[in-house]
Amino acid sequence: MSSTIEQQIRVAVVGGGVAGLATAVNLLDRATAAGLDLKVTVLEKGANPGGNLQTIRQDGWQLEWGPNGFLDNEPATLRLVDRLGLRDDLVRSSDVTRRRFLLVDGRVQEIPTAPLAFLRTRMLPLGGKLRLAGELLVPPRRDLGRAAADPSTDETIADFGRRRLGRAFTEVMLDPMVKGIFGGDAEQLSLAAAFPRMVELERDHGGLFKAMFKLARERKKTKKSMTDAGPSGTLHSFRGGMGQLVDTLAETLQSDPRAEVITAADVQQIGRQDGQWTITTADRSHGPFDAVIEAAPAHAAARHLAGVDARLGELLGRIPYAPMAVIALGFRREAVGHDLEGFGLLVPSRERRELLGALWTSSIFGDRVPPGHVLLRCMAGGAANPGVMELDDEAMTNLILGELRSLLQIKGAPEMVKIIRHERAIAQYVPGHLARLAEMDTLCAAHPGLYLTGSSYHGISVNYCLKEAELTADKVLSTLGAPVAGPAEVN
Ligand SMILES: Cc1cc2nc3c(=O)[nH]c(=O)nc-3n(C[C@H](O)[C@H](O)[C@H](O)COP(=O)(O)OP(=O)(O)OC[C@H]3O[C@@H](n4cnc5c(N)ncnc54)[C@H](O)[C@@H]3O)c2cc1C
Repeated sequence: MSSTIEQQIRVAVVGGGVAGLATAVNLLDRATAAGLDLKVTVLEKGANPGGNLQTIRQDGWQLEWGPNGFLDNEPATLRLVDRLGLRDDLVRSSDVTRRRFLLVDGRVQEIPTAPLAFLRTRMLPLGGKLRLAGELLVPPRRDLGRAAADPSTDETIADFGRRRLGRAFTEVMLDPMVKGIFGGDAEQLSLAAAFPRMVELERDHGGLFKAMFKLARERKKTKKSMTDAGPSGTLHSFRGGMGQLVDTLAETLQSDPRAEVITAADVQQIGRQDGQWTITTADRSHGPFDAVIEAAPAHAAARHLAGVDARLGELLGRIPYAPMAVIALGFRREAVGHDLEGFGLLVPSRERRELLGALWTSSIFGDRVPPGHVLLRCMAGGAANPGVMELDDEAMTNLILGELRSLLQIKGAPEMVKIIRHERAIAQYVPGHLARLAEMDTLCAAHPGLYLTGSSYHGISVNYCLKEAELTADKVLSTLGAPVAGPAEVN
């Protein structure tokens, strides 16, 4: 499939979340750089584009529908921020957010940040600390990095944790971390798919502590700047919240005559005939297109693509999603006894609470609440506890508030309550995920012009979606016969 400059290339993007919108903008930028006549059509099911990124403002409170922010360690994100002229609107999280807390044995305890401090913490029993220190002596697995080729080598996060770091550390630290990031269950997620870096560290350095000491030494030698931040990065958002990113992406597309963003377009089916793609929404047919980028979640993509390739549809449908409820609670400052000097609190499964965790949003980004108030963003549900989603708003609020009261010394009722229900919040990369992705790649390659992108596949974060948005745009243009413009050439 090649096109000349005289021939207009038509590309459809299904799903106008951050992944789809960013891919569309990248495509147009690369087409400009390559001198190609390209038109892009984004088809979004919702009334507005943006997907999970929506910022809600009510009575002086600023709440996030989905992500709270992003880390500044992904160059693709920073490139997009500059491309959209949003650098001056970046808001850095407060320094107090380096302090993070866990509920251990019913008490809110601060997580030590230095490895040696871990050996002094009361979070772990003596045996757990010794076992943790023993990580240095655990030999690396021989089959690391083979999960895509051989799913029998795919290890769950919990199995990895118990093997290298011991049971106590796995239950106290890894389990809540997985809940906080994926809304997931460490017993059910693939380490290689969810945290590929861990596999690399073990494979390349022989263990996590060995890797940590070596990388710390290297980092000391080089000073890191904002555009070359360390691997952990610093949490950022925008003045107008995360919604500002997708709003600006959508405005950029809407002001470009080569782009159209069609909302309320619930894609039913994608079809291919005579080398061209057509897309059917509830009320009409769109196309023909030279390429289709499927950027809707995998469960929707499964339906759209079942007619193109039944096996591809089946594999897409096997990527599960965890449900999650976000319960935003706003209080007068004096109603919360805890100083809230930190990022928030995570709750290990063994504490047997309904609460997965609570971010102390007003401590992270101070400008999001009316003066004299604090905002807690609580999470419930997740892969291990979907039943909580059945509760109505009042029951859910009472349950979460009941658990939080004693933990944060809350007196009185909240002044603001907002519950956001995500029936399918976050993709769960379960064992076999990487092998399924490898097969999906092969199947897509048999249908020229078909691409999958977004958080269902290689990374669930906004950062990863934006990194992949660049890669996908590059792939589309290289397949359509254009030279691929490196990021630095795109303005
Ligand atoms: C509660 C929560 C908290 C999170 N916190 C963070 C965080 O702090 N940091 C972070 O980096 N990430 C976080 N994430 C993950 C982040 O939200 C995702 O990485 C990101 O939103 C994924 O973008 P996407 O475009 O792939 O998917 P989506 O945002 O889901 O967008 C997909 C789009 O496809 C559309 N669509 C679906 N079906 C169809 C159809 N049939 N036809 C047309 N369009 C369709 C949808 O309407 C949607 O707009 C969080 C997610 C949740 C749910």
